[in-house]
Amino acid sequence: MNDVLDCSAGEFAPNDLTCDYLVIGSGCGGGTAARVLAEAGKDVILLEEGGDFVGPTRLTQRDTPMYDQLYTDRGGRTSKDRTVNILSGRVLGGGGVINACDVVPIHDATWAYWQKHHGWSEFSAAAMASYLQRALADLSANRIEERQVNRNNQILRQGAQALGWRGELMMHNRVNCQGLGSCLIGCPASAKRNPRMVAIPKALSAGARVYVRARATRIREAMAERKRVEVQTLDGKGYHPVNRFAIDARHVIVAANPVGTVALLRNSGLGNDTLGRHVSLQPQVPIVALMPDPVRAFDGIPQAYALTEFERHDPDVGLTGFRVESIFGTPGVLGSLVGQPGAAGKALMAQLDHVAASLILIPDQPVGQIGVRRDGRPEVDYTLAAEWKTRARQAIKAAAQAYFAAGAKMVVVPAAPPLVLQSTAQLAQIETLTFEPGTISLISAHQQGGARLGASDATSACDLTGQLWGTRDVFVCDGSVFPSTSSSHTMTPIITMAHALIDRLVARSA
Ligand SMILES: Cc1cc2nc3c(=O)[nH]c(=O)nc-3n(C[C@H](O)[C@H](O)[C@H](O)COP(=O)(O)OP(=O)(O)OC[C@H]3O[C@@H](n4cnc5c(N)ncnc54)[C@H](O)[C@@H]3O)c2cc1C
Ligand code: SF4
Repeated sequence: MNDVLDCSAGEFAPNDLTCDYLVIGSGCGGGTAARVLAEAGKDVILLEEGGDFVGPTRLTQRDTPMYDQLYTDRGGRTSKDRTVNILSGRVLGGGGVINACDVVPIHDATWAYWQKHHGWSEFSAAAMASYLQRALADLSANRIEERQVNRNNQILRQGAQALGWRGELMMHNRVNCQGLGSCLIGCPASAKRNPRMVAIPKALSAGARVYVRARATRIREAMAERKRVEVQTLDGKGYHPVNRFAIDARHVIVAANPVGTVALLRNSGLGNDTLGRHVSLQPQVPIVALMPDPVRAFDGIPQAYALTEFERHDPDVGLTGFRVESIFGTPGVLGSLVGQPGAAGKALMAQLDHVAASLILIPDQPVGQIGVRRDGRPEVDYTLAAEWKTRARQAIKAAAQAYFAAGAKMVVVPAAPPLVLQSTAQLAQIETLTFEPGTISLISAHQQGGARLGASDATSACDLTGQLWGTRDVFVCDGSVFPSTSSSHTMTPIITMAHALIDRLVARSA
């Protein structure tokens, strides 16, 4: 079995690296791609710009070093107008290392929508069923058990049930979870069956070479039989350039998350006019509630229950409506979400053990655009649609109703100024939320699109095999490929799709 090679060590700069398949980005898409290719006997290199973090000595449960090391731009990336905080992983294993472990497959209606409206003729729910099964097996997907449901999740469920609303305990990819609660900054107990724990060890065992602290900066000669990919190595902390080298590869599979993928392709001078367009951020609204009794939401699985009453799956629209899911993070993160400045915020934080919190997931239409600034850095232009804002107000109202039904003393929406509700009599105030830039901070954990697949180069960036139009054997294999939002959570959809695309690639080159 190969070891992970850290390029920051010893000023690593080989001048003769070659492979048949170079995978760029080691997350849900890239990790799966590298594993499937290696197990098929292919000669694979996997590049990852982040570091390798496994176990309690590396995953320390401390906010500052973990955001610094596990998140893209230390968790500080935002949309151009700063309304949406765009979160993604930057570590071996990608977003799977820092995500909330929810396993939510693509709904049959979404496959039907893509078939009917986006020319995804080959991707019916039935045709994709075996790939979904592979994804679920990779994730060891299992239903969260009643004994694992903490008070924070019970409160949301209690409120939903009091109102007669539907909800469910979610599927997740934890095995032997210790309930430490730090999922969003990595699991020191290695309980997550994420790409770092499953796909990457399998890829290494099958002979793949895995390099960390190695950022692909440019793909050259994309129409030639052999491509040349330039790589920047980074220091041990991952923020300073150390050295450069190039890899000679027959196939290049880009899986750097939508923002990273579009930026790399654009910086390489590749892609048609559709590349970078039709981006979905799935902005989420945080909401907190002050409860009369201790909640201790920081103990146990942060996200277990979903209020799904209002989620809609429509073969003519795709995923719409909204859902509400309990969540909690470390005090630092919660401090930024209580939304109350000064003494009021301090008072709320002093009662942190009485605070319940949720994220409201409101699927969007793919209205965003990823571009590249003059310095090569990506820029995400995203304007909230009026229809999304209307649904967001309905969603916030429903979440507040659920908390009051569960006995909340106060519900806070972290807007500027914060919206503080003392009872259901004040719900009408939610209509005052404008969602204008500077008045609210939203969260995106599920970026999708930007390099969508399709049957025509006039309307898509890649063909239905994932090959970027106008290139020879340059493929995309991550969340970028979806024509619209795939599900309320993206890990399972991306792993499913990666299995399907890479299977076809293997069959093609067999
Ligand atoms: C906080 C958070 C919570 C989430 N919770 C859930 C959840 O509970 N359930 C769920 O289904 N989904 C969840 N998601 C979403 C899910 O984790 C992501 O959608 C998924 O990981 C994206 O997969 P990907 O393959 O597109 O990219 P990623 O997994 O993001 O991997 C891309 C990798 O590419 C690397 N990279 C980028 N550019 C380069 C380059 N030029 N060279 C080399 N490497 C590069 C990055 O460092 C990164 O590691 C969550 C996401 C976040 C951020
Ligand atoms: S709750 Fe479970 S999966 Fe999450 S960090 Fe703790 S032990 Fe790991």
